Amino acid sequence: MLTLALSKGRIFNETLPLLAAAGIVPAEDPESSRRLIIGTNQAGVLLVIVRASDVPTYVAHGAADIGVAGKDVLLEHGGEGLYQPLDLEIARCRMAVATKRGFDWAGMVQRGARIRVATKYVKTAREHFAAKGMHVDLIKLYGSMELAPLAGLADAIVDLVSSGNTLKANDLVVVEDILPVSARLIVNPAALKLKRELVQPLLEAMRNAVAARRSAAP
Ligand code: ADP
Ligand code: MG
Repeated sequence: MLTLALSKGRIFNETLPLLAAAGIVPAEDPESSRRLIIGTNQAGVLLVIVRASDVPTYVAHGAADIGVAGKDVLLEHGGEGLYQPLDLEIARCRMAVATKRGFDWAGMVQRGARIRVATKYVKTAREHFAAKGMHVDLIKLYGSMELAPLAGLADAIVDLVSSGNTLKANDLVVVEDILPVSARLIVNPAALKLKRELVQPLLEAMRNAVAARRSAAP
């Protein structure tokens, strides 16, 4: 038996072709099904559908053998108890600092002013600003980060950006890049050992599919 933890939405959708390359096809679409455990065309392979930020927890505890999680989520989790053998190069975006357009971020940084930063990514943000020697007050949010500067909750946000359309729609601009983000395959270390004959071929098929896609669209 092999259990894979995936989140609904872009991670699921972009993982589908990679799973197909490994011969795994889900029996249902989690978007339309209410089931949280989904079978596949392979009798021994199950998918469990969890929140994106819960994927590392399921895999680290061995409730799932394998998972797909964004670098953003893995950094916040810490990655303890997880192998991260493969960058799937999907769900690409970047983590960045954004403020209201016209906000004097550089000036505030230069003056060493006390800056309030709202984010879902408290750990990554803390490490980023500490590395720059900046003192910021971090405010933990669970969503809709873009609202924080507009509502006066914070001076800046740390959030994921892909097209920049959400920022633009809310009159925000990127003032600092933090890191590029993509989704990784994560594996429970015990499963890698005990289920090697199941895990290894899956890993190799996905690795080949990622490489093939990269050379098709460089
Ligand atoms: P949730 O809202 O539950 O976090 P998402 O589907 O928005 O679920 O995000 C899942 C993962 O997809 C994130 O952890 C991140 O790695 C990636 N992601 C999030 N936003 C974007 C985006 N705008 N573009 C590309 N990838 C993204
Ligand atoms: Mg989202």
